[in-house]
Amino acid sequence: MADGERLIYLALGGAGEIGMNMYVYGYGRPGRERLIMVDCGVTFSNMDSSPGVDLIMADPHWVQARADRLEAIVITHAHEDHVGALGLLFPRLKAPVVYARRFTAAHAKLKMERAGQDTTLVHQVDPWPRTVQAGPFTIGFVPVSHSIPECSSIVIDTPAGRVVHSADFKIDPSPVVGEPFSPETFGEIGAQGVKALVCDSTNVFVEWPGRSEATLAGPIGELVREAKGMVVATTFASNVARLKTIAEAGQAAGRSVVVVGRAMKQMLATARTAEVLDSFPPTLDPQDALEMPRERLLVLATGSQGERRAAMAQFAAGSYQGMELKKGDMVLFSSRTIPGNELDVARVLNQLSERGVRVVDESDGRYHVSGHPNRPDLVTMHELLRPQIVVPNHGEHRHLVSHVELAQGAGRQGLVAANGAIVDLTGDEARVVDHVETGRIYLDGTELIGATDGVVRERVRMALRGHVAVSVIFDEEGRPLGGSWAEPRGLPDTDRYPDGIGGALEAAIDASLGRAKKAELANDDTVERLVVQASNRVCMDLLGKKPVVTVMISRLE
Ligand SMILES: [Zn+2]
Ligand SMILES: [Zn+2]
Repeated sequence: MADGERLIYLALGGAGEIGMNMYVYGYGRPGRERLIMVDCGVTFSNMDSSPGVDLIMADPHWVQARADRLEAIVITHAHEDHVGALGLLFPRLKAPVVYARRFTAAHAKLKMERAGQDTTLVHQVDPWPRTVQAGPFTIGFVPVSHSIPECSSIVIDTPAGRVVHSADFKIDPSPVVGEPFSPETFGEIGAQGVKALVCDSTNVFVEWPGRSEATLAGPIGELVREAKGMVVATTFASNVARLKTIAEAGQAAGRSVVVVGRAMKQMLATARTAEVLDSFPPTLDPQDALEMPRERLLVLATGSQGERRAAMAQFAAGSYQGMELKKGDMVLFSSRTIPGNELDVARVLNQLSERGVRVVDESDGRYHVSGHPNRPDLVTMHELLRPQIVVPNHGEHRHLVSHVELAQGAGRQGLVAANGAIVDLTGDEARVVDHVETGRIYLDGTELIGATDGVVRERVRMALRGHVAVSVIFDEEGRPLGGSWAEPRGLPDTDRYPDGIGGALEAAIDASLGRAKKAELANDDTVERLVVQASNRVCMDLLGKKPVVTVMISRLE
């Protein structure tokens, strides 16, 4: 390692929240470090904070300003919170190469293609012990078990030592689909010396060891065997192992397996092409399923998070592709509800319940296991790798703090580094040496906008307060021509005024402009102020609220 060079770590998203992962490592002279980005993910929006927004992602402007120093983007796995923003943000990053293993690379290419980016920049890499070079970084992809096939921990070797970026993982010796977690491999990597472990913190508060995916086959098999009518099951489309477990339970119970929902079909197809799925029961076309007795069917459907357009929501609302749920049928939610989606899921569960359908969810823990390491599993990982420093990520702030305490309890250095903290990992003590401004970008329709640009704030104001559009026209002399025109939207009407709220608004605006001096009426800003004041006064009087008012002024010259 040359004098005056340093190794830095920076989270732009994912440290202090669960979602939109985006991490940067840098090596070189301060201010001239060569960079790699690990993951480029999204978070889903919700009606409370970002109504109408399609996706949320971390703002990469720090990297964007240094894009000439970006050597590569590394994608750990194909979950949306790790790869979902790759195509959308790529024009700002313009990395020379994107590295991922086969199944993940297929998804990365899809993200690039959908955003009109060059898919040939995505390079498929082989797993550890093979490595790829990116500037001063030697990068290896170590297979780990998770809730999607082919997740990788990333070994990053630098002149200042080795960093292991755990990515999402669980310690599962039999993950059903994909590679098991290998304690031997991680032990060897640890024995070679690890300076820092940047580590998943999602389940740090869960005190018992995580359960294997393989433990679900028994309970799910029993559930399906004892079911009477049609069975519809849902989970994350990307949880290919779970799809296989459920489908095999159906097959064993003499049921034909039907897969519905675009995301699920696509995920299974990619898993087959990438050879991560060796076997799966034969599936039946939904059209042919209509000919089958319902007690001979098992349907795998998208929509475990209550998504409105997904297959499960349509089943709950009536029918999907001619298939209808009836009294005596069973629905299995083999999934966890992501915080923020509770209301959507509850709506679907209640609709199903109203149809007389038996709903089984994961509440007693029999039909779902997590893809993340619980507290004892984190201890195992720490002990296998024996890092000098543990920097927790993939967690809310309280998760990061608890994970640091866990590391410190075992005599290791732990450091809370939330989004924006630049951590210098060069010496024996990791330190936060700087803070950079972080932010969020929204995908709104087809446009990327800054979260603080004001677009969504304005949308929320209109949603909460209602809106009034007002048009006023002035003649050549600068006098109001005819009456004003006011169009309320999203406001209740009132019978406390003869022509309703619209009539009341127009009368008040006309009166206000009628009282104004000629010089005032010549000034657009003054006219706008008078119209807004009059509108607010009327709406407060009659409706008890102040709407957002838009004023259009036309002048005949
Ligand atoms: Zn994941
Ligand atoms: Zn994740």
